[in-house]
Amino acid sequence: RTKSSIGLTVCFFEPDMDESARARRQLASDLRHAVPSGELRLLYQPQRSLKTGEISGYEALLRWHHPKRGLISPTEFIPLAEETGDIFAIGDWVLQEACAEARHWPETLKVAVNLSPVQFLQDGLIERFRAILLQTGLSPNRLELEVTESAIITDKLRALHYLRQFKAMGVSVAIDDFGTGHSSLDTLHAFPFDKIKIDKSFLLRAETSHQALAIIRTVLSLGRSLSIPVLAEGVETQGQLQVLESEGCDEAQGYYFGRPAAAPSLDLPDAVNF
Ligand code: C2E
Ligand code: MG
Ligand code: MG
Ligand code: MG
Repeated sequence: RTKSSIGLTVCFFEPDMDESARARRQLASDLRHAVPSGELRLLYQPQRSLKTGEISGYEALLRWHHPKRGLISPTEFIPLAEETGDIFAIGDWVLQEACAEARHWPETLKVAVNLSPVQFLQDGLIERFRAILLQTGLSPNRLELEVTESAIITDKLRALHYLRQFKAMGVSVAIDDFGTGHSSLDTLHAFPFDKIKIDKSFLLRAETSHQALAIIRTVLSLGRSLSIPVLAEGVETQGQLQVLESEGCDEAQGYYFGRPAAAPSLDLPDAVNF
């Protein structure tokens, strides 16, 4: 924002509005130093196969340990990073960190990394991924990207091009938060996703809302008819898990199986550091 638009803000909004705008500017300027200052951390949350009972992989979830404000949620600072352009440096850091971490895990485990729509539309995305995979030595088939439908609809041709290139490399791609926003059958048909992640809002209401349960069933049958495995996010209770098992869901993720944690406690010598 320019100085003059800040001036206008002062004229037209309440004083506390100006205060929050100032706080936001401060946060944006702090964010620039977050990567070089080592203030970012990844937590990992298990994804469990309901067919075999085994953990199939872990989703990397970003946290910012702000020196003054403490822990800040990605839902707060990712949108800001998208505005400032810091998302590119942050995205590279996340990918590098997640791939390097997954190198220490058994080869059966994948690591899932979230990609913001802005990242997904950048030039040279594939080359950056290729370079980081090469540098960390992680096999591409152990990496899964999670993108939301909003990443796709902005530029469908480019998105399709990227998805095909990722697939050709061996990297799999999941559609995240499915059922919210713009999710459409059209997108599922047109794009070669390897996994559908049902948004957690449906799971949280699965036992109390007929509508939520109907949506879960619909997504599961959609996945079956397209031969795309479905993962349910936000499983917190045994009751919710039972619903998923009886409906034939492939995979699940949520506090019931494990909260996002500093690093998966694996049966490895390295694990003592965690
Ligand atoms: P998401 O990718 O859909 O991640 C799932 C969110 O649900 C995570 O929130 C996770 O901690 C939370 N969650 C997991 N299990 C449960 C559960 O049983 N109950 C409830 N109520 N919540 C559960 P988190 O970690 O705050 O991340 C929020 C969003 O921020 C993510 O949603 C993702 O869109 C974004 N994000 C996180 N890490 C990254 C990243 O490295 N890069 C980008 N671009 N976005 C990220
Ligand atoms: Mg995700
Ligand atoms: Mg999600
Ligand atoms: Mg989300």
